Amino acid sequence: MDYEGSDLDRFLSAHWRAPDRAPDAALMDQGATLLKAAVRSGELTCIDGYDSPTTHLIRQRLGNQPMEMNRHWLFSPQSFVCPACQRPKADLARLTPSGKIVAKLVIHHDHVSESLEHFFYDALVRAGAEQPQVNGLALAMRMAPAFAAHDEVLLCEDCNNVDVRAKKRVEAPKRFSFSPGQIRSFVRPRPNAIHEIDEAVLLKLWPDVLDAYQYRERAMRSIAARAASDRHWYESHSGDLPAIPLPGFRAYLRLPGWTSVHAFFGGETLQATLGPPVIEAAANVSRWRQQPARKPESVPNNYAAAICSEANPAQQWNAYPDTWRCPICGRSKAEVVYRKKGSSKIQWGIKEAGYVPLAWRAYRHYCTHCVSTLSSLQKEVRSLLPEGASIGTHDYVLPTELAAVITAQAHGPNQIDADQAADLVDRILLRGAVLPD
Ligand SMILES: [Zn+2]
Ligand SMILES: [Zn+2]
Repeated sequence: MDYEGSDLDRFLSAHWRAPDRAPDAALMDQGATLLKAAVRSGELTCIDGYDSPTTHLIRQRLGNQPMEMNRHWLFSPQSFVCPACQRPKADLARLTPSGKIVAKLVIHHDHVSESLEHFFYDALVRAGAEQPQVNGLALAMRMAPAFAAHDEVLLCEDCNNVDVRAKKRVEAPKRFSFSPGQIRSFVRPRPNAIHEIDEAVLLKLWPDVLDAYQYRERAMRSIAARAASDRHWYESHSGDLPAIPLPGFRAYLRLPGWTSVHAFFGGETLQATLGPPVIEAAANVSRWRQQPARKPESVPNNYAAAICSEANPAQQWNAYPDTWRCPICGRSKAEVVYRKKGSSKIQWGIKEAGYVPLAWRAYRHYCTHCVSTLSSLQKEVRSLLPEGASIGTHDYVLPTELAAVITAQAHGPNQIDADQAADLVDRILLRGAVLPD
């Protein structure tokens, strides 16, 4: 059962409507019927419903009792798994002692904004300030996500309730709350039942958790005191329009036509239709092969720790074995690591080309410095082709031809052999910017 190609999919594509247009009542009715059918059949699972396959499974287990379902439950995907107790939706519904099925999800948050607010007013009153500190309070509130022990997260009601019980057990401070990972460690989840607490785990965990909480509280108190004074650093945006009144910046402008125009045409078309004619800048497209490459910056020994501190680079780093080498410049995984001048950030990356011609099959994964060499070559060749002619990334040069103009340097951009590179450009143009046979 797929959503794509379903009756609902076809209906929605045919009757696309800008969000600021009033709906047609008859059309909405027709859509609602298809929507119900798509949820019932399992074609649409990104949302739940009283008649969904998930609900039917729950009723099979818990009986045909009256059911209560909150909005978070209804609007969340049927594939939802509670990030704390790891139970799927079908295990989260529960029969109450009065014989009702409850299906509820709750947004669980750290109460740091309340703490910051409390510390802010406390400091303001203590200092006896005469002037209001509007920006100061805004600054304190902006700190909340930085001090939160976890992001706001949707949890099952049992996990949210067990947080309260566990807090009571350890006599936690008023504004403290356990993170999803901490909850996971001390609950013993069972399907369709409230959680039991593993007391031994909870009590062992608590001293370290409390220590981190108290550290946060001291830091928040210090920031809040500064925010309540005239010596803080934050200035909020003022004006009738949002700070960045552009589409894609969370600005929903109530100006006539704003939403419809942006949603219907899209950025590219708007630019082409309304912008001035494009003037091509006369860039020096040969510079990449005429200038010596920058000397590499030094890279610290613990570069892997630096790279893996960020989620996406870490994932890529771990996906390539230590024996990996760039098939074009020949550098090892460690030699591909680099640092930009004046920055302490350690960078690393491998391009994974999708579709490539046969000659490139064995070369599909190459380093970012080779990406940059290839794209400079592509830009130069493209600029020399007749107007309107175009080339793809890999369909005019062989990887071995590219390799021949490169002298690799560890931790830095490729050195380019000026004469060989000039020859390569000529050769590519002579054969009509296609791969040789
Ligand atoms: Zn849970
Ligand atoms: Zn390379």
